[in-house]
Amino acid sequence: MDDLDFRPVLELALRSSLNHLTTLETGSVGATSTLQDLRSRLNRPFLDDSLSSEQVVQDLVVDTSGGILGSAGGRFFAWAIGGVLPAALAADWLTSAWDQNAALYSCGPAAAVVEEIAGDWLKELLGLSATCSIGFVSGCQMAHVTCLAAARHQLLQSQGWNVERNGMAGAPQIKVLASNRHGSIERAVRLLGIGEGNVLDLTLDETERLRPETLEVALQGVTGHPVIVILQAGDLNTGSFDDYRKLIPLAKHYSAWVHLDGAFGLWVGASPNYKHLLDGFADADSWATDGHKWLNVPYDCGYAIVAHPEAHRGAMSLRASYLVHDTEARYQIDWNPEWSRRGRGFPTYAALRQLGRLGLGELINRCCRSASRLVEGLGKIPGVEILWRPIINQGLVRFLDPSPQANHDRYTDAVIKRVIAHGGAFFMGTTWRSRRAMRISVMNWRTSERDIDFAIQTVSESVSVESAETVFSK
Ligand SMILES: *Cc1c(COP(=O)(O)O)cnc(C)c1O
Repeated sequence: MDDLDFRPVLELALRSSLNHLTTLETGSVGATSTLQDLRSRLNRPFLDDSLSSEQVVQDLVVDTSGGILGSAGGRFFAWAIGGVLPAALAADWLTSAWDQNAALYSCGPAAAVVEEIAGDWLKELLGLSATCSIGFVSGCQMAHVTCLAAARHQLLQSQGWNVERNGMAGAPQIKVLASNRHGSIERAVRLLGIGEGNVLDLTLDETERLRPETLEVALQGVTGHPVIVILQAGDLNTGSFDDYRKLIPLAKHYSAWVHLDGAFGLWVGASPNYKHLLDGFADADSWATDGHKWLNVPYDCGYAIVAHPEAHRGAMSLRASYLVHDTEARYQIDWNPEWSRRGRGFPTYAALRQLGRLGLGELINRCCRSASRLVEGLGKIPGVEILWRPIINQGLVRFLDPSPQANHDRYTDAVIKRVIAHGGAFFMGTTWRSRRAMRISVMNWRTSERDIDFAIQTVSESVSVESAETVFSK
């Protein structure tokens, strides 16, 4: 076969991708098509007959237009969403072209080796021991599931209970102590049969950190239970880091398993300016982080890292840990919850090589500088109150309602809506300390000072209703 089956459609995909990536600097960041538009365009008749691949892809590009957010560009500050580095994107395309099943070494030898090597680089870069085990998963959500499955394995084994064989019914009841957490923790706990009702809330102090006294009281309240303590490495609203030097030894004293949610925060370990925030974090039992956030690899990619490889493999592998493998290769299926899976190591490997150690540190520093510039710039707009100045790349502001019956919460949500409709930047709201706020999260490698200034101008124009014209929508 010649390349004509693939060439025209792949060239179309390349042109369309480049068109998207190069217009991100000027286009609307938000959607310009409505739900109705998208449904009516995409719901084409499903035909009996085949179509040419170019026709399919051309239609896809046209029909989705206005429904693709500019999250790969530099003016997207909502949730915690990274962009995509050129080498990582290209490696991701190759991953699809190669179409390896990255379950086992035998069905994708290079995919297995790349994960092994990228995994070693990640541990070194983040400041974790080379003896830790690592699983490449779809995101922090599944990293929590994987790490907490390892926790469950070890905690219950130490009480003489084989959870993989016997399940959770009749097992000692695990308690989870956690402070202000991401919802993915609840889901992990649900999937593992621990139950949301066994997650106990710990209150934070005014610096958004967990006090050792608070943790100790909570630990004393659950004596007799196997316990998992979940600490933050980059709180979702404020980017705060817990005091690991004090908290981890305390939790260990009570025989708890310590898990860190470092979806984006763990990456500050790659920057000499910020790595002190992680002081003592390497003594935890497991860490969850993402590639698709601050490392800027395409969706989806997360990493589950565990200090106890036997527990990690015990929870995930189908092979008993005492069996000797017939090959020296690393089998991904021993460390992650999927069976057939994407060759997720390739984009990570490419991103790490493109950036290098210094490049990644510089990316982290640049995003943190941008976050400060953005928050301070927003703070200068009349009617904007800064609620949280970035420690790293996360900040919070709110908008003060000038009307006599001032409802700042409602007003803040209304301004965020106007910013999104404006199209010049994209932010989302959150509830923080019982107040509505606008979150600022900077983790795209492309965000420039110009983007920041443009975003400030967008918000400034959106604050006054009169000028809140939608400049980008058709
Ligand atoms: C994004 C995020 C998660 C969930 O990660 P996914 O990659 O979306 O599964 C968990 N914790 C924190 C702090 C996050 O920012």
